Amino acid sequence: MDTNHTTNREDLIAPCGMDCLLCVAYQSQLHDLKKQGFHRQYCQLCIPRGKNCLHMGDSCELLRDGRVRLCFECTAFPCQRLKLLDKRYRTKYHMSMIENLRSMQENGIEAFISEQVERWKCETWY
Ligand code: SF4
Ligand code: SF4
Repeated sequence: MDTNHTTNREDLIAPCGMDCLLCVAYQSQLHDLKKQGFHRQYCQLCIPRGKNCLHMGDSCELLRDGRVRLCFECTAFPCQRLKLLDKRYRTKYHMSMIENLRSMQENGIEAFISEQVERWKCETWY
């Protein structure tokens, strides 16, 4: 996987707990998959651009206004919207944003990133 090495790896963790490197919106734009007939919304990462994540930013005013960096910092965590998103991803992709966030909450973001590298690595990734 080609990643922008000038981007801080922590900036590739979206507020909802998604690792952007695994996100179809990021991978689609990175490889310009619309040219190959794969029509998904493109995302060039939320944190480096100061924009909202497609998953949550428009539906949560705390995230939209940048008052929360990661959802576990929120008193409502895990809110209903996050639970619904989490359920969808657990069912379809066997990964859990809420588990990711709890891991970051307990062990810190650096440890979480190290886990991600181990969990998802293959010869062409990372
Ligand atoms: S939609 Fe964008 S910011 Fe949100 S997880 Fe995907 S790549 Fe990251
Ligand atoms: S947990 Fe809090 S910050 Fe995150 S989406 Fe829900 S309400 Fe917004």
